[in-house]
Amino acid sequence: RVLAHGQFILGPEVEELEARLAALSGVPAAVTCSSGTDALLLALMAWEVGPGDAVFVPAFTFAATAEVAALVGATPVFADVSPDTFNLDPDSLVAAVEVATAAGLRPAAVIPVDLFGQPADYPAIGKVAAEVGVPVLADGAQSFGASLGGRRVGSLAAATTLSFFPSKPLGAYGDGGAVLTADQGLADRLRSLRAHGKGADRYDHVRIGINARLDTLQAAVLLAKLDVFEAEIAARAEVAQRYSQLLDGEVGVPRVAETATSVWAQYTVVVEGRKAVIAHLGGRGIATAVHYPIPLHRQPAFAGCPTAAPDLEVSQWLAERVLSLPMHPYLAPEEQDRVVAALREAQA
Ligand SMILES: *Cc1c(COP(=O)(O)O)cnc(C)c1O
Repeated sequence: RVLAHGQFILGPEVEELEARLAALSGVPAAVTCSSGTDALLLALMAWEVGPGDAVFVPAFTFAATAEVAALVGATPVFADVSPDTFNLDPDSLVAAVEVATAAGLRPAAVIPVDLFGQPADYPAIGKVAAEVGVPVLADGAQSFGASLGGRRVGSLAAATTLSFFPSKPLGAYGDGGAVLTADQGLADRLRSLRAHGKGADRYDHVRIGINARLDTLQAAVLLAKLDVFEAEIAARAEVAQRYSQLLDGEVGVPRVAETATSVWAQYTVVVEGRKAVIAHLGGRGIATAVHYPIPLHRQPAFAGCPTAAPDLEVSQWLAERVLSLPMHPYLAPEEQDRVVAALREAQA
């Protein structure tokens, strides 16, 4: 259908996708864009975050979360994560705000990350952010479809970004992303910014923007995948529950907060002797991945950025021990048994 109508950029399927994303997350507006990274970037641009501003981010996340702060000229300020959920630690966020303020930076935004599919502690983070007077931008690249306290990802922060990178729970056949928000004014600015700062019509430019539009073909793929998305989330939860039953007590299994659900973007355990475990599983034909081996405050690209404490110990500890196991909705119990058996051999 897309090939027939030929509206390859922002075609009718994109509009349909935006309506369905908004409905699924319970927010009034969804603005799609070219990637999860651009979604974060557009939100910071729309809030006019820039030089002299501090953007608070967890150190244990993918580089994009912090990169966008630097891209708009602001300073990423790193906070530590909780050892239970691997998500932004509200106490460390308080310390990060103090450090940034003492360094003469102006607090501008907090970007909590819903790592591996579990929402961050938005009630606690929102309280800190409100006291400081900054908006919360949820990096929901890994968590679309999850919930906290009965509320879906998308409605937990002033704005929430999604990624449709192929390996995410809702993955396209290429790059894509979106921003979800209840703020219609923000949604309008995002629509303008993703199309070169357009005004009322295409060649009317009212602000400096970028090209960050979603391809219609990707929207068509995502619409088809949305039809089975809820079933896939349920299937992922079953796989995760089975892993945890089999592995609890043998390795560190992921913990989901009582009021939260996860969409299990990754099933990530904590192991000792990780290098040997990876080699042993690899020898059995089992692929694993490390998300993420180096915390962002230790990356050369972010050298010199302020941190909540001299050492972000939990982030560093996790970076040395986490291991993501095979996880997808169609993983058969027999395949899971093979992974578990190989993991036990490696630990023996
Ligand atoms: C994947 C991811 C992003 C970036 O999304 P892209 O679509 O790849 O640009 C940002 N933050 C987190 C936490 C991610 O996992």
